[in-house]
Amino acid sequence: MRTALIAGNWKMNGLQADATSLARAVVSAIEPQPSVEVLVCPPFVHLAPVGEALKDSGVRLGAQNCADVPQGARTGEIAADMLADLQVQYVILGHSERREFYAEDNRLIASRCEQAVAAGLRPILCVGETLEARDAGQTEAVIAEQLDGVLGILGAEGFVDGVIAYEPVWAIGTGRTATTEQAQAVHAFIRNRLAAYDADFAERTRILYGGSMKPDNAVALLAQPDVDGGLIGGASLKAEDFAAIHAAAARG
Ligand code: PEP
Repeated sequence: MRTALIAGNWKMNGLQADATSLARAVVSAIEPQPSVEVLVCPPFVHLAPVGEALKDSGVRLGAQNCADVPQGARTGEIAADMLADLQVQYVILGHSERREFYAEDNRLIASRCEQAVAAGLRPILCVGETLEARDAGQTEAVIAEQLDGVLGILGAEGFVDGVIAYEPVWAIGTGRTATTEQAQAVHAFIRNRLAAYDADFAERTRILYGGSMKPDNAVALLAQPDVDGGLIGGASLKAEDFAAIHAAAARG
């Protein structure tokens, strides 16, 4: 039985006071459930104060990226060890915004994943197709290439306690969500692909859905057998919406 994971991706939003008050609001809105892990991923500069606001709450702390090397001459990058030092437990990697705006490729994302795992962090590897790829019938080919581009290097044993997030690019921040059938079909495809690496690995790895998940569509999405939680952007910036999605996961 996989423990659900509801993860908030705060992206590049808010000043420090906004981030700490959102963290406090999340803590008071969420009713902890043993069957659901909750995670928030603020911008790097807010990790320490948000971590302080989350203390003893059970809400976990995550980051939105980490460097592809352990330390040294990489101006502007943040090492995985530095994140672990701030009690960060998860790190989002390969988000489509980083693939698109910062030209991150699978090789770089694989190196970031390796560093995350070496520092004891759990990577949340994002994969997803563009609308053009979906319309051209290329969804599975794109997902396979993104998964194999990382797991082909790390192997199942190198992706320790990692999580996959299926985020169709056309659904991110657009208000357009994959139907439950579309989401379940891709999640099942991903789980099958993971099984080619190792059957146990496929069974225990959580696959999150991301792309305009909101309180009103979360129940149906989270009820799908291969949807093990959500990676939530816009709705994670409102504590009540995030808590409502968490409650949907607890029921699902
Ligand atoms: C995301 O960017 O990870 C995301 C899922 O965003 P949104 O929920 O706003 O579509």
